[in-house]
Amino acid sequence: MSVIRPLKCDLTVIGTGMAGMAATLFAAHRGLNVVQVGRSGEVIFASGLLDLLGVHPVAAKKMWHNPWAGMRALVRDCPRHPYARVQTNDIKVGLKEFLAFLDGAGLAYHRHVGRNVEILTSMGTAKLTHGVPETMWPGVEALKEKKSCLLIEFRGLKGFSARQIAQVQKDRWPDLRTARIDFPEMEGFSEVYTERMARALESSRYRRKLAVAVKAHLSGAKTVGLPAVMGISNSRQVASDLAERIGADLFEIPGMPPSVPGLRLKEAFERGLPLLGVTLFSQKQVFDVSHKKGRGFVLGIGRAEVEQTIQSKGVVLASGRFIGGGLYADRDRIRETLFNLPINQPADRHDWHRKGFLDSRGHPINSTGLEVDDLFRPLGKKNRPVFEALFAAGSILAHQDWIRMKCGSGLAIATAFAAVDAFLKTGG
Ligand SMILES: Cc1cc2nc3c(=O)[nH]c(=O)nc-3n(C[C@H](O)[C@H](O)[C@H](O)COP(=O)(O)OP(=O)(O)OC[C@H]3O[C@@H](n4cnc5c(N)ncnc54)[C@H](O)[C@@H]3O)c2cc1C
Repeated sequence: MSVIRPLKCDLTVIGTGMAGMAATLFAAHRGLNVVQVGRSGEVIFASGLLDLLGVHPVAAKKMWHNPWAGMRALVRDCPRHPYARVQTNDIKVGLKEFLAFLDGAGLAYHRHVGRNVEILTSMGTAKLTHGVPETMWPGVEALKEKKSCLLIEFRGLKGFSARQIAQVQKDRWPDLRTARIDFPEMEGFSEVYTERMARALESSRYRRKLAVAVKAHLSGAKTVGLPAVMGISNSRQVASDLAERIGADLFEIPGMPPSVPGLRLKEAFERGLPLLGVTLFSQKQVFDVSHKKGRGFVLGIGRAEVEQTIQSKGVVLASGRFIGGGLYADRDRIRETLFNLPINQPADRHDWHRKGFLDSRGHPINSTGLEVDDLFRPLGKKNRPVFEALFAAGSILAHQDWIRMKCGSGLAIATAFAAVDAFLKTGG
């Protein structure tokens, strides 16, 4: 039997969602020898928008145009929220570093540092967010200035209706027209898919045909909105070429999952992180972990069974919630799936959800998760860290409801920054 030698590293990051990607990036930038392991997480469902904080308190649905002021209020009202354990300046530094990496990977984001912006969603509602992919940014300005705008929908594309958006916006944005067209060379298809359309538009043949079809409906519109399908690995070039051919500003509207902007993020990280020296085990998972004092962690990883072991001084656990696989709900309790760490949760399953599905306070199950100390180390008995060098980041943390608070990516990036910083501070 062949014996596979363990791969040695400083830090293993478990998870390839937003928090795992951010933690890996920060660790690699700080000169650590990093291994990252994970399957596709929620990130391929994500809209691509980077929310910092949009809503607090959730029950009052109070919206914050200034996310930093919102955070100050949140930390005051909810001192156990993960944001309360990260210095504001560290969040700013981490966010800037994260966005600079994406910019270098050809996935630029736009934002106003001190405030949130409003963006149109595929539901027709306007949402407050912070960082916006450059392919969506002209839509922020079009919405603000109510420019004359043509919205395009494609026959066969489910979950995106330009007519619904225009209907919802009709009192706010009178100069919003719609057109329903076929995607080039997919005429007569009963169903078309965004990823396939995005890959097709990377070829100039499709862009030429699409531009002709859109121009036929332009009638003087200054700007054109369409679902997020403008390429995957080269969305900047696809968008500018298409805009030039059509002769109008062009913007994407974030849509329903699975999402092309989420795929762009995944691909940008998978291209860029190995260039920083990261050993990435994509589409693999950690099956078991053991820990020995003085030797650190030994992790067994593979696709369907253990194929490789990793010996690591420290671990950042960014394994997400129920969709990502970091948490699992059995009949009467919620478990952490890898280390069997204690989960902060209601004493009784009956209290996981409130009676009304749409209860404005949200549901307690959405705030369950890992309890951590100020160094983001999961706590066990007597509120002591379970391991000195195990850190947690992202949506697996307790005391946050990122969907309702509109803070998903911000929380992932901020806590990843803090977790890596803590590893370094504790001698990693
Ligand atoms: C539909 C949808 C829309 C969203 N829209 C927005 C938005 O508009 N704005 C915004 O800011 N955020 C948005 N997000 C949220 C954002 O994507 C999440 O905050 C983020 O994905 C949570 O990140 P995470 O890394 O903590 O967890 P996840 O993304 O769930 O990642 C968990 C990772 O852990 C891995 N994992 C789990 N167990 C193991 C194991 N044993 N071994 C190895 N790997 C393991 C998984 O494979 C996965 O890679 C959206 C998310 C969804 C689902």
